[in-house]
Amino acid sequence: MAKVRLVNVVKRFGNVVAVDHVNLDISDGEFFCLLGPSGSGKTTILRLIAGLEFPDEGDIYIDDKLVNNVHPKDRDIAMVFQNYALYPHMTVYENIAFPLIARKRQLKISDDEIRKRVVEVANMLGIEHLLNRKPSQLSGGEQQRVALARALVRQPKVFLMDEPLSNLDAKLRLLMRAELKRLQKKLGITTIYVTHDQAEAMSMADRIAVLNKGRVQQVGTPDELYNKPSNVFVAGFIGVPPMNMIPCRIDHRDKKPVIICEGFEKILDEDIYKEIEFHGYGPEIFIGIRPEHLSISREAVPGSIPTEVLITESLGSETIVNVKLGNTMVKAKAPPGVKYNMGEKVYLIVDWNKVLLFDAKTENLIA
Ligand code: ATP
Repeated sequence: MAKVRLVNVVKRFGNVVAVDHVNLDISDGEFFCLLGPSGSGKTTILRLIAGLEFPDEGDIYIDDKLVNNVHPKDRDIAMVFQNYALYPHMTVYENIAFPLIARKRQLKISDDEIRKRVVEVANMLGIEHLLNRKPSQLSGGEQQRVALARALVRQPKVFLMDEPLSNLDAKLRLLMRAELKRLQKKLGITTIYVTHDQAEAMSMADRIAVLNKGRVQQVGTPDELYNKPSNVFVAGFIGVPPMNMIPCRIDHRDKKPVIICEGFEKILDEDIYKEIEFHGYGPEIFIGIRPEHLSISREAVPGSIPTEVLITESLGSETIVNVKLGNTMVKAKAPPGVKYNMGEKVYLIVDWNKVLLFDAKTENLIA
């Protein structure tokens, strides 16, 4: 097991800053996800940790040892790629045994011991019946397990995984998510997992680093990212459908601070207003509200906002109702089977306890 630490790491490719002053502190035995859109620098960070790229600035530590100049094979890490990278001419047995055979002398390991370890890890992943087959005779899910077995057989200090489930169909992907997580917890190997799929990261990770344009936007547990996103980017990236963002303005009525949005107003808590003044935020802000914290009523209730239904989307387990709020379309979650007609007049109820405020200029979370 091992800790992994990145301190102010920068990696440039020509004019592109792929990794921009990244600081990460990954704990022993942690399942840590790097999450972000395409081109945000996830793979480059993984390759830097693996030693397949070298940082232009900053330091990388594995277990408090500076590894900037340590060769990949001496870092005691194993990497699983999206395309599995199995050797096509070798059998499953030979593929799994390969990392041990390649280091036979270094590891001082006998052929018997190699066989024992390969069979053990194949058993653990339920692929012992496939050991004599070639990769081309396996399904995607089976190939994926072989790639995992090959990474596991060496019992590395750190596991690096780059979208290892993205070639599997949706059903198998869900199954493998649970299986990978279970395996990781059982073995306790520090795992750094790259994905652009927020649902995958949320369901597997102990903690997640959200990346955009090479920069870390926020590091936190899935709950922290969901409930307290530190900026508009994280709020929009985590959760399906994403958080609604409604442009509003802070003003005063009878000397009291208020949030003024198109079609509704809300008195602003004095303490939050002080915070806004202190940071020089506003007057333009966004109010962020998750679809499950908005509800729809056919009758007016105190504080509800009159609006009309644009369209409803039935998702089986729930219904998403799209309504207009000023010039912004917002999504509200309704129970399954609920039907509204297009253009129907309804009332929107906002759970104000759950509303987040973001500064429009910096896009940072205010409160
Ligand atoms: P994806 O999800 O699409 O794999 P990513 O988040 O893993 O994306 P990276 O592959 O790390 O992103 O790329 C980050 C940036 O660095 C991108 O702009 C990419 O074009 C650039 N980049 C990565 N590798 C190289 C390279 N070898 N040469 C030039 N540019 C590169």
